Order: sequence, then C-alpha cells, then structure tokens
Amino acid sequence: MGFVAQPVSEALAGACFAPDYASARARFLAAAARAGARLDVFVNDAAVAPDGGSLTTDVAVLGPDRADRALLLVSGTHGPEGFVGSAAQVALLDAIATGAPVPPVRVVLVHAINPYGFAHITRTTENNVDLNRNFIDWSAGAPGNPAYVELHAALCPSVWTPEALAAADAARIDWIGRNGQDAFVDMTSRGQYTHADGLNYGGIGPEWSNRTLEAIVRRHLSSAGRIALIDWHTALGERGQPFFLCFNEPGGPGWERAGDWWGREQVETRGGFGGAARPKYTGLLFHGVQRYAAQADVTGAVIEFGTVDMDDARRALQADRWLRFGDAAAADPRRAALREQVREAFSPQSLDWQRSVLGHAIGIQHATLAGLAAWR
Ligand SMILES: [Zn+2]
Repeated sequence: MGFVAQPVSEALAGACFAPDYASARARFLAAAARAGARLDVFVNDAAVAPDGGSLTTDVAVLGPDRADRALLLVSGTHGPEGFVGSAAQVALLDAIATGAPVPPVRVVLVHAINPYGFAHITRTTENNVDLNRNFIDWSAGAPGNPAYVELHAALCPSVWTPEALAAADAARIDWIGRNGQDAFVDMTSRGQYTHADGLNYGGIGPEWSNRTLEAIVRRHLSSAGRIALIDWHTALGERGQPFFLCFNEPGGPGWERAGDWWGREQVETRGGFGGAARPKYTGLLFHGVQRYAAQADVTGAVIEFGTVDMDDARRALQADRWLRFGDAAAADPRRAALREQVREAFSPQSLDWQRSVLGHAIGIQHATLAGLAAWR
C-alpha cells in the first residue's frame, strides 16, 4: 500500500497555488461552489488582514450528513505554511467538481484555521500563539519547559545585526555542546507556555482558532466514528518531498492503519530533525480533534513538505519573531526582505517545488480517501 504522487502541470499548480491569503480564500470558495459543497464561515473579529480585510476560517463540507467515516483536511495551522494545504484542498474540490469518484464518506475541508498567520505570513496567531501547541487540556494547566527559559534570549534576538545573530548562534551551539542535540530540538519544538514573546508559545488558554476548530468538529463530525485527519504543514524533511508525523500511538492500530494508507516506511521514518529524536510535542491540533470528536477513532498526521534546510528555517523563525517583537521601526527597510525570507522558507514560490508538493498531496489525499473507504 501507499500513495502515488500524481503528475501536476504548470497550469494546475498555477491554478491551485495562490499568491496571498485573500486570493487563496477566493479560490477555495470558488472551488467549493463548483464542487457543490456546503459552506460554513467563521470570522475572526479580533484582528484584520494587512490590507484591512477580514480574516475568516472557511469550511467546505461534502458527502452524506450522517456518514460514519470522515476525511478532515486542515490548512494554515502555521500561517505561511497554508499555501500548500490550500492548494491541495482546491485540487480536491476541483477533482470532485469534474467527476472524480469519491467514496460515501463525509469530507470536511478547513481552510486557514489560523487566518491571521496566513494573511500576515507569520507562523503564529494574533496573540503570537503557535496554534499547534495550543490544544492542551487547559483544565490540567500548562506543562513546564524549564530548559526553554535558559535559551529564550539566544533564540529570540531583539536586535537584527550580524553581531547579534552570531552571538545568539554561539550561545545556542554552546548549549547544545553541554546538553545534546536531542535535548535542544525537544526544548525548542515541544512548546512553551511562559514566554508570550517567544518561539513555540502555546498561549494562556484556547485561541480563537482552537475554539473555531472545536465548533467545526462538533458541528460537522459529531456523527463520525472514524476520522482521517491530515494537517498540512511545511519545512520538515527533504525539499519538495513529504514527511509524515503520525501522532497515533506507535505500534497501535491507528499507527498500523496510517502505515497501510501512506506506506509503512513513510510513517516510521526518522530524520527531519537533523538526526535528533522526535520532540515530545504538547498541544497538537491532532490532540484537539481527538478531544472534540471523543466518540471517534482518529487516524492522522501532520504531513510536511521540505523547503529549506534546518538552519535557514530556524533563521526564518527568528526573523518572523523579530519582525513582531524586535527593535525595527515600522518603516525599517529590512522588514520587506525578511518577510519575503519567511515566505520562501515556508512556501517557496518556485514552480518546480509547487508542482512536486501538489502532486504528492493529491496522491496522499487520494490514498487517504481509499483507506477511509476500506476502514473496517
Ligand atoms: Zn508547521
């Protein structure tokens, strides 16, 4: 078993990949209308787009009302990573509109679950919250991450000069020398709940995007007993290639099922963290779907597409964070170039890259639908 990447023409990639959030939204809504999907629109009143436009999470729903099996595809959890997921969703809607056979399952496409991040080309929400660390059980309190406290200053330079960046790198390398690469990757990736201006900040309560996902799941997936979830992301793995982070228990039935759908070697792959062990993530969107659809078995993954190497991705995250909290004035000429660097690190505009990732995404979505139909 496994998926087969589909060939993607320049025209198809151009039609599916939008240049910005507003265009992505317009293409998604048009494709949903062509496919005859029902729409559910959630407006984020707490913020606006850079051009003053509104921010919405748009949901397209297809298939039988009381289907036991459902496919849930999410885009834009990390803002600038949303272009790929959006393109994959548009491609699926257009395949359905042009008569592609779909098994009798419910299909729920969540476009731009973090619309602020998508519109502003920034990883986090309007409150600098990493949405994929926000789905903890808040009644149990936030988990600690004491090691993050030691490195916050080195990870988050407030001045963007070669000297400041070199000093930050030296502090990081020194810390890794004393504590190891596994500890570093875990500490910087798992999530932290103490530094509101820091990286991988999980927040102080459920974000608007979190509450919106809860409403979507309760409204559209309450009859589902079996849910296949793909949360589309970028920046881990080989450039242009998919990298799977399955969050079902390793060796358990969900893990086995994911291996059947996508290929065992894909699901069990290591690497993608510079050779370090996988971080002990907290508050993943996957956990949120499990909690909000407690009646269902959820099989799913974050599926990433590689973009740039880890050093460039880390620098882009630092730039993203500095653009929000650093010492630059609004008119600082470095701003536009750094924002472009963030965009390229998380959604390259190379047509070759877009054709490759869209071809893989279409193949993966197809294999997931087939696996869902065969799930007994
Ligand atoms: Zn991501």
